[in-house]
Amino acid sequence: KLSKRLDRVVSYVIPGSKIADIGSDHAYLPCYAIKHGVASRAVAGEVVEGPYQAAIQQVNSSGLKDLIDVRKGNGLAVIEAGEVDCIVIAGMGGALITEILETGKEKLEGVKRLILQPNLAANNIRRWMLENEWQLIHENILCEDNKSYEVLVAEKGNPYLPYTDEKKEILLGPYLLQEKNEIFQHKWLQEIQQWEKILQHLKSSEENEANRRKQNELLEKIDMVKEALS
Ligand code: SAM
Repeated sequence: KLSKRLDRVVSYVIPGSKIADIGSDHAYLPCYAIKHGVASRAVAGEVVEGPYQAAIQQVNSSGLKDLIDVRKGNGLAVIEAGEVDCIVIAGMGGALITEILETGKEKLEGVKRLILQPNLAANNIRRWMLENEWQLIHENILCEDNKSYEVLVAEKGNPYLPYTDEKKEILLGPYLLQEKNEIFQHKWLQEIQQWEKILQHLKSSEENEANRRKQNELLEKIDMVKEALS
């Protein structure tokens, strides 16, 4: 059985497609996707030896060696252009996911769908999509073990389509903001509390230009998110 988080991620795989799971760790996601007939073939990519070995073991013990290739390498270096239909990158920070996509850009040729699950800083990924003509088509937020996770799904298309107010929606997510569900509200109320703490700290430390600028940035963000939640 998959975790709730990975189960949500796998639900966005195009049925029957060939997938690559980058940073696959134990290869739980590709094993599940193949076993349940969601994907027809898979590549599990890992850059670190331990998780790479764990992925090989899991694939072998599941009897899926013929359908899942476990490959060692950095990001999208483990796939050829045109080899897969869907790319999954889950369980990392938004900055790292963005870096993997940016570095492996030429491998995205022919890819139909990106399914990305950043643990934080999803805004980095939304910005990258906007600049690279990937259109955000679904967003999801879920809570597991008291942590919230966002899932972003994109296909090639007009990247501006989902946005009416870029600054706000790149941070919060255009679809998540529209839905404003409980998990979303809880996440952003916590963020605001965190920012307010930082603000108090800045107010009590030495006054200078950089400090003032940071305070203003934070105030602007707090106001924007408060307004969005109201
Ligand atoms: N994707 C799984 C999940 O969501 O449960 C595993 C997430 S785990 C926290 C992140 C994995 O990504 C680690 O096993 C790490 O070795 C791998 N990783 C980090 N940077 C990577 C990169 N540039 N290329 C491939 N794998 C990477």
